[in-house]
Amino acid sequence: LFITLEGVDGAGKSSHTEWLINYFQQKNKEVLLTREPGGTELGEQLRNILLNESMSQTTEVLLMFAARQESVDNIIKPALIENKVVISDRFTDSTFAYQGGGRAYDIYRLQQLATWVHADVNPHLTFLFDVPLEVARQRLSATRTMDRFEKEEETFFMNVRKMYLQLAQQQAERFVIIDATQSIETIRHYLKTVLDKRFAL
Ligand code: C5P
Repeated sequence: LFITLEGVDGAGKSSHTEWLINYFQQKNKEVLLTREPGGTELGEQLRNILLNESMSQTTEVLLMFAARQESVDNIIKPALIENKVVISDRFTDSTFAYQGGGRAYDIYRLQQLATWVHADVNPHLTFLFDVPLEVARQRLSATRTMDRFEKEEETFFMNVRKMYLQLAQQQAERFVIIDATQSIETIRHYLKTVLDKRFAL
């Protein structure tokens, strides 16, 4: 079972990972948590470069997919073969949203790269943590120093969010949109309801 968490920076997706791990462990499932870009040793090095260095858009796209290839081959695929639950904090939808939506990078190219890198590995379920821009910005500035992407203009994030919502609409079977302005408790309750219903483990 492969689950991904998506959303704009500041939506708060990462605050639910612990709870999700617990949920599956209580059902006696082995769980593996990873993140993108990153996850592997090389992937984390690429993350560092991606978050701090300026580069051409195509380089950015290729490095994202390079980190993803490492993650798919070394973490996600082996774990799925062992029947583990894999939770990834971001996956290819992030590339469609940030590079495709935010930077208006050619979607067709992104689709080709996605097929190339992980035609046989796709999320079964994707939680999209959705918040209005102002809320996301407020949360971000309150909690941490911003990386290269988080310093982008407002229109960038508006386009990221728009693309996320578009993807969710196009692939409604896979996506569950979460109104992430709600309290952590309310969101958890909702996550539990969705998971209980989808996976009778
Ligand atoms: O979610 P997390 O904070 O770990 O993401 C790291 C950074 O990389 C974020 O600022 C995110 O916006 C950016 N990112 C991106 N394109 C991707 C994946 C992440 O711009 N495909």
